Amino acid sequence: MYVCVMAEILKVKKTLLHSPICRLKRMLQQLEVSDVDFEELKRNLEFTASLLEALYTDGTRPSFDADDDLQLRSDVVPVEVRDWLASTFTQRVQPISRRPEEKPRFRSIVHAVQAGIFVERMFRKAYSTAMPDQPADVLNCLRDVDRWSFDVFALDAGSSGHSLKTLFIELIIKHQLNGRFKVPLSCLMSFLCELERGYSKHTNAYHNHTHAADVTHTVHCLLLRTGVLYWLTELEMLACLFAAAVHDYEHTGRTNNFHIYTRSELAMVYNDRSVQESHHVSAAFRLLQDENTNIFMNLTRTEWLELRSLVIEMVLGTDMSSHVLHIKAMKTCLQHNESIDKPKALSLILHAADISHPAKSWSLHSRWTPRLMEEFFTQGDREAELGLAISPLCDRQNTPVAQSQIAFIEFIVEPTFSLISDMAEQIVIPLIQDTPDPSPTCSRYRCVSPHRAQKGLQWTVADLVSFRSMWMRHTEENKSKWRDKINNSVSDIRDEPEMQTGQKSA
Ligand code: AMP
Ligand code: ZN
Repeated sequence: MYVCVMAEILKVKKTLLHSPICRLKRMLQQLEVSDVDFEELKRNLEFTASLLEALYTDGTRPSFDADDDLQLRSDVVPVEVRDWLASTFTQRVQPISRRPEEKPRFRSIVHAVQAGIFVERMFRKAYSTAMPDQPADVLNCLRDVDRWSFDVFALDAGSSGHSLKTLFIELIIKHQLNGRFKVPLSCLMSFLCELERGYSKHTNAYHNHTHAADVTHTVHCLLLRTGVLYWLTELEMLACLFAAAVHDYEHTGRTNNFHIYTRSELAMVYNDRSVQESHHVSAAFRLLQDENTNIFMNLTRTEWLELRSLVIEMVLGTDMSSHVLHIKAMKTCLQHNESIDKPKALSLILHAADISHPAKSWSLHSRWTPRLMEEFFTQGDREAELGLAISPLCDRQNTPVAQSQIAFIEFIVEPTFSLISDMAEQIVIPLIQDTPDPSPTCSRYRCVSPHRAQKGLQWTVADLVSFRSMWMRHTEENKSKWRDKINNSVSDIRDEPEMQTGQKSA
């Protein structure tokens, strides 16, 4: 049974307050008519005082419920998993201590599954024409670049560890952005070399260039399949791909909380606020300061400022502690039929792409999970060395991996994907109604003929439903696989042959 704790608390508080209010009113009446029973007056005052004291104490207790909207099935989610969800996906900073005291309390449910996803297939310019000397394996992989099932691991192997570089160039060309913004190829190559180098700095099992390539591909695929692409200008499209590619640049392989507790250099620089995300975006823009790597050198000042602002908002939005706030804000916006703020919508799409692997096939999801776990466990090892409490999910001896994945899918991934589906519907349906009389604000129509846009959007509508059911099928299947593991007591996911690639070499 799902329980909305917050609503319950409010109900109880209301009921509790009702009685002392009545008693106070009665005492006033008695005083007004000088009909005072001192014994009764005393009893009533004592009762009211003790109740107010209890409520005061309750109100001043740090409350996890105050600002989040996560809704959990508290009866089935293990305490370590709830602890991890609380410290990762809300703004609650988990107190660090050798003997952690109270576990956080979770409340309620994030749900809503509906709406659709759109597909479109407009950009046909092949990577092979622009880069004829690519190995056959790479070309083979890139043929699937518009598909949800795109295999970034295969691309990484085929490109000898250059999946990010290869994919970014492919997408820039595919979306015709290199020509539109006069991106010098030599700059692009140098920039991407530096970017990949930055992603290797800390030899992370998960947060490395392959993850960046995966997220970049997923952003492209989400925009394409939801039809949100039609809503964007070319500059916004460029910002989306760039933000995705740089969103974890120079990731340290540690969580933000680790930086904060250990008072790391980055935590000091960024005042504990979105510590790593601030660094990713700042360091990426720093790369552009060098003219050899400045891929945006031919943007006008206005274009550059607009792109920069959008990229900053999108990358900062990947801080998982903003998850609840962003989901809540977008939900409210959709419920009230308000106009959708583009930077917020695009931030949500990048966030969804960042957590998308559980919404993909088991063959992909089961390769990402042990990589992430290995990175968490490496942090746990370090915490143990430092004599700190081991963060939730970072204890390699004692972490319920399967349960954590089920909870992650159920409470984070599915609600996020449902929301972006709803959001896409509200964005794209008016565009369909507008075409072929395109809105002047939608500059992508300027480079796509109305006829073509109309056709693309019709495809989009047709594919929307199938895409939605596809990611839902994947999340369901993945949860069921994890459940099987729990039932079969496979405690160490690394026992799985398909997961043994998940060590440091991602
Ligand atoms: P980022 O650090 O920007 O890549 O954001 C992704 C974060 O989402 C990770 O650091 C994890 O906290 C979380 N995450 C992504 N995938 C999973 C997963 N399968 N299980 C648990 N947490 C995940
Ligand atoms: Zn990421």
